[in-house]
Amino acid sequence: MNLLEQKLSSYTEPQKAQAAGIYPYFRKIESEQDTEVIIDGKKVLMFGSNSYLGLTNHPEVKAAAREAVEKYGTGCAGSRFLNGTLDSHIALEKRLAEFAGKEDAIIFSTGFQVNLGVISCLLGREDYIIWDSLNHASIIEGIRLSPAKSLRYKHNDMAALERRLQQCDPERIKLIVVDGVFSMEGDLCNLPEICRLAEQYKASVMVDEAHGFGVMGDHGRGVCNHFGLTDKVDLIMGTFSKSFAAIGGFIAGSKTTINYIRHHARSYIFSASCTPAATAAVGKSLEIMLREPERVEALQEKTRYCLEKFRKRGFEIGHTSTPIIPLFVRDNEKTFRVTAELFHEGVFVNPVVAPAVAPEDTLIRFSLMATHTYEQLDTAIEKITAVFRRLDIPLHPQA
Ligand code: PMP
Repeated sequence: MNLLEQKLSSYTEPQKAQAAGIYPYFRKIESEQDTEVIIDGKKVLMFGSNSYLGLTNHPEVKAAAREAVEKYGTGCAGSRFLNGTLDSHIALEKRLAEFAGKEDAIIFSTGFQVNLGVISCLLGREDYIIWDSLNHASIIEGIRLSPAKSLRYKHNDMAALERRLQQCDPERIKLIVVDGVFSMEGDLCNLPEICRLAEQYKASVMVDEAHGFGVMGDHGRGVCNHFGLTDKVDLIMGTFSKSFAAIGGFIAGSKTTINYIRHHARSYIFSASCTPAATAAVGKSLEIMLREPERVEALQEKTRYCLEKFRKRGFEIGHTSTPIIPLFVRDNEKTFRVTAELFHEGVFVNPVVAPAVAPEDTLIRFSLMATHTYEQLDTAIEKITAVFRRLDIPLHPQA
């Protein structure tokens, strides 16, 4: 056995979890991504999807993707920079810029690539990136690739953010990067205070709206829109892998900024462009989102319904106000057990465990779709409550 094989063969955690029957990853879905899916031939209620508006299997979205395949084929066989730009990319970019409330936008092949490419290309080694400790991994990878100085602040702690801003050379560029909705805890960033501090210290702001678009704001225009602060935010990032029902991502900002990114972001220039089918699916999803605001309203209504039920039953759910509902377990092993037992009972949820979070912060991530029925919500909440009780996870019901 060579040295690499030797090192890797000592990594046996997945095998141990599989042997214990609590391995929760790579569950094989054999059907479309709906509120119910088929896994191992069995129907399971889906509460682990990011398809917030339930559009991944909408007939119009599927038809748009099919038509794009007929017209353009299945792939672009090149980067946007060279031979991979379609007229449909350009048309969608224009609509996305308008949707985000910015002058211009460009599409990347994944949201991860947006954060990686954008954050790493903007700043020099004397500049600063200031970021929330619970930001998404793709933001953190972008920061690692940037030559700029990295300054992290405690999650949503605005005094800590201000201390970081005071630490910077006032003459240098400062970019604050933050998730609009935090992807595991479902809470919002304190955008009003972030923008106030940014103005005071002459910093720029970038907001990741991966979980904000389709969820918050007027017609799902996101967290920046929700706070009425779109004009104060310099860069707005979105992904297509959630409300937009496909895969890909985009960044929106001023013409000057987007022009620079278009010619410098390496994950944009050196990677093949978004497929024709995904581009068309996003265009159709956007059209439906704007045409049917009742979808966003239904999602928000179901979010309120579940939040109230979980709170009444004494679940610890942190500060969420979105369809991402964290159910804190605060024990790695029990978090795996809850996931496995719920799956056995026909409810799919995602475990969030160490090292993604501290062992005392482990949780079940319960996420909603606009298309869930109230009956599905009630069934899931009943089953989750029963499993939490069975495993002695503390609940503190309200009187
Ligand atoms: N940002 C956030 C906050 C996310 O949650 C995700 C995906 N989980 C991404 C970026 C990356 O997006 P994509 O799935 O399009 O790569």
